[in-house]
Amino acid sequence: MNLSTDFLDEARIHEAMRKASDPSHPEVRDILDKAVTEVGLTPDECAVLLMADDPEQEEQIFEAARRVKESIYGKRIVLFAPLYLSNYCVNNCTYCGFRVSNTELERRALDKEMIQQEVKILLDQGHKRLLLVFGEHPDYANIEYIRMAVKAVYDVNQGEGINIRRVNINAAPLSVEEFAEVNTYGIGTFQSFQETYHRETYKKVHPSGPKSDYDNRLLTMHRALEGGIDDIGMGVLYGLYDHRFETLATIMHSQELDRRYNIGPHTISVPRIEPALNAPDAVQPPAPVSDREFKRIVAAIRLTLPYTGMILSTRENAEFRDEVIRLGISQISAGSRTNPGGYKEAIEHDEYSEQFTIYDTRSLDEVMHSLCEMGLMPSMCTACYRIGRTGEKFMEEAKSGHIHTYCLPNAILTFREFLEDYASEETKRAGLRIIAEQMKEVDDPRILKSLLSKLEEIEQGKRDVFF
Ligand code: SAM
Ligand code: SF4
Repeated sequence: MNLSTDFLDEARIHEAMRKASDPSHPEVRDILDKAVTEVGLTPDECAVLLMADDPEQEEQIFEAARRVKESIYGKRIVLFAPLYLSNYCVNNCTYCGFRVSNTELERRALDKEMIQQEVKILLDQGHKRLLLVFGEHPDYANIEYIRMAVKAVYDVNQGEGINIRRVNINAAPLSVEEFAEVNTYGIGTFQSFQETYHRETYKKVHPSGPKSDYDNRLLTMHRALEGGIDDIGMGVLYGLYDHRFETLATIMHSQELDRRYNIGPHTISVPRIEPALNAPDAVQPPAPVSDREFKRIVAAIRLTLPYTGMILSTRENAEFRDEVIRLGISQISAGSRTNPGGYKEAIEHDEYSEQFTIYDTRSLDEVMHSLCEMGLMPSMCTACYRIGRTGEKFMEEAKSGHIHTYCLPNAILTFREFLEDYASEETKRAGLRIIAEQMKEVDDPRILKSLLSKLEEIEQGKRDVFF
């Protein structure tokens, strides 16, 4: 297959940044007027939003992003937990605690029983969506290990509807044939981050191992789509190179996939480097991103790719995370551990096998409670993926506003289940208040009627009820 990396033209990105520097007020205003119509923006327009430095312009950008976020996603926010399966890795990424040259890391790979133990703990907390995370290793990240792990997770069933309903994976790049194989395992999103689109920086921070091949990494998503995976997640690791360059490159990558395959990324993740054991670029990131810059990145992506989900991880502290959600985040992780076996060992906080330090250590119940206090509507919905509303079909429905009709009712149903089965008294009170408020937003009388009867079914003990 003849795939080219020409779509990522560094000179073109630098030129877009140069042309966009110090934009006028009317220029920014015009771009925001277009952005709020939810048609998306070009990379050059996005560059203007990233380069505008005036505080008044910045506030206008944030305001527009909040508007688009609210209009497309409403108050909903989807929650998931990462599950780290193995920290064996043959790569040497200078920012990661799992790097091969970190001899102080205690290496572990979970077997089927250990995976299922972790899954039971997560189910007991109320999780329904997991992201499985792998190092890169011939024994513990190969296709057989991935198959065993996905199956092990789906096989745990603690009672009617008490199971993981969607497994996403974050793993090393695969070949087209391997993607085709993984596609048969019933995964949701295949996620992999470019880390940095800047070739020279990429080379520096990936000194050895298969990951040092920039072109191979850059074409990961092309291969995934060629292999039939229609739900992909992308991102960069902010802190390695200029955040504006990285954001524009992410946009160009995403638009290239959309042009070529009619499928853009389902999600873009926005991780920032966090401290990690024996990882020099995690202790001192080469291009640190301030909170203010980070908020601008989220706002610019939201306005440029309005229908692409955006994921924020536990890498951010609770207070800041709350602020950023309103600018465009649609999914967050909660109650996370980044070491294989970490949920079982949470009580002892085993810092020698974790990938990086986590700042938001709140439990799922606490995160749910704080989301309700912010007026947000937690969701654990997995309906689209389970009824095949993915890839091109998902995008078509999202753009026509159709998705909206089902997303809110499904968020209400999955959150109601959580309140019934797992919530503290405090969260239940706050949650029922939010549900009552959000019911008023369901404007189709037929859906409202059906929603009311499904809620009653949940109260009577039925689980896994969705539209
Ligand atoms: N090993 C696979 C890979 O590198 O693609 C997948 C798993 S890796 C553990 C998942 C992601 O963690 C990486 O893509 C990277 O962006 C992120 N990561 C690594 N070190 C980090 C750090 N110190 N702080 C925050 N995120 C980090
Ligand atoms: Fe390995 Fe991934 Fe960590 Fe790099 S980021 S050292 S490939 S686990």
